[in-house]
Amino acid sequence: MTKENKEKSKDQKSGASRRDFLKASTVAAGAVAASMAVPGVSAAAEPECQPTNPYGPRPGGGVSLPEYYKPWPAIRNRNVYIPGTEVLPKNEMRIMFLGSTPWPPTKLQSGTSMLVELGNGTLQPRRFFFDMGNGSIKNAIALQVPAPLINDIFLSHLHADHFADLPYMYPFRAFAGGFEPLRVYGPSGRTPELGTKHMIKHMREMNRWHEESFNVNPMGDGLEIEVTEFDWKEENGVCYNKDGVVVRHWPRSHVKDGASGYRLDWEDAGLSFVWTGDGRPDELSAKYGKGADVFVSEGTIDTPTLSSFKLGAPSELWEYTIDIFHTLYYAAGYLFKQAQPRIGCICHYEWSGDGLAAESVAEVRSNWDGLFMFGGPDVQVLNVTKDAIWAREALMPDGAAPAAMDPRWFIKPGQKMPEEIVLPTPTMPREVQQEQFVRDLEIDPKKYYPPGEYRKPVQKWPGITLNPREMLAARGIKLDD
Ligand SMILES: [Zn+2]
Ligand SMILES: [Zn+2]
Repeated sequence: MTKENKEKSKDQKSGASRRDFLKASTVAAGAVAASMAVPGVSAAAEPECQPTNPYGPRPGGGVSLPEYYKPWPAIRNRNVYIPGTEVLPKNEMRIMFLGSTPWPPTKLQSGTSMLVELGNGTLQPRRFFFDMGNGSIKNAIALQVPAPLINDIFLSHLHADHFADLPYMYPFRAFAGGFEPLRVYGPSGRTPELGTKHMIKHMREMNRWHEESFNVNPMGDGLEIEVTEFDWKEENGVCYNKDGVVVRHWPRSHVKDGASGYRLDWEDAGLSFVWTGDGRPDELSAKYGKGADVFVSEGTIDTPTLSSFKLGAPSELWEYTIDIFHTLYYAAGYLFKQAQPRIGCICHYEWSGDGLAAESVAEVRSNWDGLFMFGGPDVQVLNVTKDAIWAREALMPDGAAPAAMDPRWFIKPGQKMPEEIVLPTPTMPREVQQEQFVRDLEIDPKKYYPPGEYRKPVQKWPGITLNPREMLAARGIKLDD
């Protein structure tokens, strides 16, 4: 080992990054080979030539896990994330991979969606959703994310595996008490008909029957959708800038114009998150994703021959498809190497079981030796601070009830809790959207109620007023206002 390498080795012990260390040991290996080529010099005889301890200063720490992969006190359970049991402290970020597959949906994987939470020291952190694929909302609900507080949804592009739960979610969000308009952000397309605004307009048109029927209930402005459609071509354009959080976007090569990558920067905490969305590995994602704390890429295993064996379809079809749409695991690793995040993640991939796990990781590792995880199977939870990163799986009940209604959802941050909260008046009573004869066909309730249990059916909107203090007191919560 050369003097220089000894120096580097010492640096490692004093806390230099593992990557520097790997570089140093590669050089060291070269030096060994050179010394072995010199006659009379026995490499084995020199203590310097013993295997290098890749764990560096923390024996047992693993080959690929850096010093900063560790839990901290706010992580209540180190092995599982138990919904509703942790307050996310200020300046801490939590990412929940709500869904992780393009296709096929399975019991283990819903359509792609990521929830980025920014801690504010309360039970309800600031939330940003990146894509909202099929089945992802059931996971958000199971994680006790209050439906009324689902908002700020950033769509990477308009493939249905990235927004299929949106038409399902938004009316129920309003029904559950989400009386504020929904905010959706997404790219334009080559023509207006191919942009996010057009999709949302026609999604609402598709849901017209659903919206009208729900207007028999208090909905407020909850069915309104405010769309921020940005120019898909713009590089590093700002599509969100509020209260210290900036979200930028850039174009991606994904077969068709109108696909975007995103980067969220949280200035107060100095933390950042990147989601490439779908597409081929590209220079812009490497450039604008540079130095992100968390860099999430889509990913595909590059085994077309194996896919052909398993599924029968010709390997040429696999090759063609992945080569014009997607990022292979090799390439995801390459992007990580370019961007140098604190952790590289792959979401939007097909989990193929343990049999292919080693191959999948090996493909990523051909280019990336830093911290890495798959954002699946559902639901993986990643906590991030300036000093540390910790990943766990969420412990979710199979049949989860949503979070109990909390009157604090209905007031804006900093606003004083009023004495009472009046639910919005429904805009479309039953009588205006249903003919009398259909109601007349309903069976007389007295025929099925036991006599002692009879309750006269409510036929008109009764007007409902909440007493927030009573509601909270019933759950042992006292407001100190
Ligand atoms: Zn996709
Ligand atoms: Zn796509």
